[in-house]
Amino acid sequence: MNRRLFLKNTGVLTLAASAAACTPSAMRIAKKQVNILHSSRYLPKLRISMDRVIKETVGLRPYRTLGPRIEKEELGSKTLVHNYGHGGSGWSLSWGSAELAADLVISSGEKKVAVVGCGVIGLTTARMLQFRGYDVTIYTKEMAPNITSSKATGTWSPSHRLIDKENISPEFFEKFKRAHTTSFRTYQNLLGLGDYVVWTDSYSVRNEPRLEQDHDVDESDEKYAFMNVLPQTVALKKDEHPFKADYVYRSTSMVFNIPSLLKLYTDDFLRFGGKVKIQEFKSLEDFDALAEKCVVNCTGIGAKQITNDECLTPISGQLAFLIPQNYVDYRINTRGAYTINRKDGMIVGGTHNMGSWNTTPSKEDTEKMVMAIKNVADQMYT
Ligand SMILES: Cc1cc2nc3c(=O)[nH]c(=O)nc-3n(C[C@H](O)[C@H](O)[C@H](O)COP(=O)(O)OP(=O)(O)OC[C@H]3O[C@@H](n4cnc5c(N)ncnc54)[C@H](O)[C@@H]3O)c2cc1C
Repeated sequence: MNRRLFLKNTGVLTLAASAAACTPSAMRIAKKQVNILHSSRYLPKLRISMDRVIKETVGLRPYRTLGPRIEKEELGSKTLVHNYGHGGSGWSLSWGSAELAADLVISSGEKKVAVVGCGVIGLTTARMLQFRGYDVTIYTKEMAPNITSSKATGTWSPSHRLIDKENISPEFFEKFKRAHTTSFRTYQNLLGLGDYVVWTDSYSVRNEPRLEQDHDVDESDEKYAFMNVLPQTVALKKDEHPFKADYVYRSTSMVFNIPSLLKLYTDDFLRFGGKVKIQEFKSLEDFDALAEKCVVNCTGIGAKQITNDECLTPISGQLAFLIPQNYVDYRINTRGAYTINRKDGMIVGGTHNMGSWNTTPSKEDTEKMVMAIKNVADQMYT
């Protein structure tokens, strides 16, 4: 076919196609497709049952009644910077906390720095120091997946089990504000790079009106206006969702695909010349033996033993991983459990045991959480 004939034919075809696209029935179909894509009325059904459980984990949130410890102390010949105690908010606040800790390292004047701990706090601190030109070695007892950071849900929850409300001080407020702002901005810069970070809708499915969120700071107070970075939660009408419940609310937030992010941070750290050494520290005195004069302590709940910090206590949390459903791109929370869709599983969670050091998963807890979600899932579209 010569070029002119080809153009003529394709032109005719295109005109014919666009004429067809404008017929009333085609427009109705197109409108319906747009509605399906953008509506919460047509959500894919969750496949939830005990025989789909592939893994269970229990992680220890490093909860500190005074809030995260990000401060400097001189210890003999060493400068010690602490960055631990982020409770249920460590993933959310990691980058901002890393920035605060890196600022404290600057005043030590050292260029070679030891970071102890290779969880999300240690890795982001190490990367932040590399951004500023430091030569960093991470010393750690364990790495992913045998760390708390690997056992987290991975959602934006910057003030969850973070501080005892009575201990909120102006100093805490300033650090929190900066950590929140820096972290949120950093996560937006990770959007679009694969699916390390994604925005997801979450449906709160209840038989009673919405209870206040489980946050440690009073977000309705005007001074916390900087936390208003998420779209407003909306109450859905009956015909706007597929759930069988009296009250359904939709909110939108970020999900962190944890295994990929930990790998990304580790790979980047090594690519920029960082080194990782496996080593356990029993007490602060053990830090003395390190070659580096400046040490950043990012040991999470491990800091309890190393520093004897009386304000630090574990809050254990169990997760059940079900076979991933990659086409499900929304979350559910209901009384007693929530789901989160990640690449490595459809995760069901919802336990908080203050003071528990027990990391053995309980079948009973898994069953309770899975059944709570199954009740909601089975009644979709009924
Ligand atoms: C069930 C659950 C759900 C969660 N969900 C979320 C969420 O949705 N969003 C959110 O923001 N946060 C969440 N969190 C909280 C978050 O996981 C933690 O705040 C965060 O992982 C703490 O990171 P970390 O680096 O301080 O601790 P860790 O990940 O525990 O890392 C500590 C590191 O220090 C090392 N270490 C410890 N002791 C020693 C020692 N003696 N010597 C040498 N090395 C040592 C460890 O081996 C490890 O490498 C959740 C936690 C749990 C348990």
